[in-house]
Amino acid sequence: MAYHNKLYKQLSCRDFGADCDFTVRAKTEEEVLEYGYDHSCRAHAKCGSSPKTDERMRSLITNVWV
Ligand SMILES: [Zn+2]
Repeated sequence: MAYHNKLYKQLSCRDFGADCDFTVRAKTEEEVLEYGYDHSCRAHAKCGSSPKTDERMRSLITNVWV
């Protein structure tokens, strides 16, 4: 029997067009964006947020039940 009782927001770097296996999963879109920006800065040297990037990230976020 499977338990699917928690909804998470998920975003993977690959969805974003990067050749990278990083996937972030968090409870809110805001957290996903926060982790996403952090990863982008550390791993891809793309630092700083913008409304346009926010929008793109939100559009790529998927809901997953864990
Ligand atoms: Zn990445």
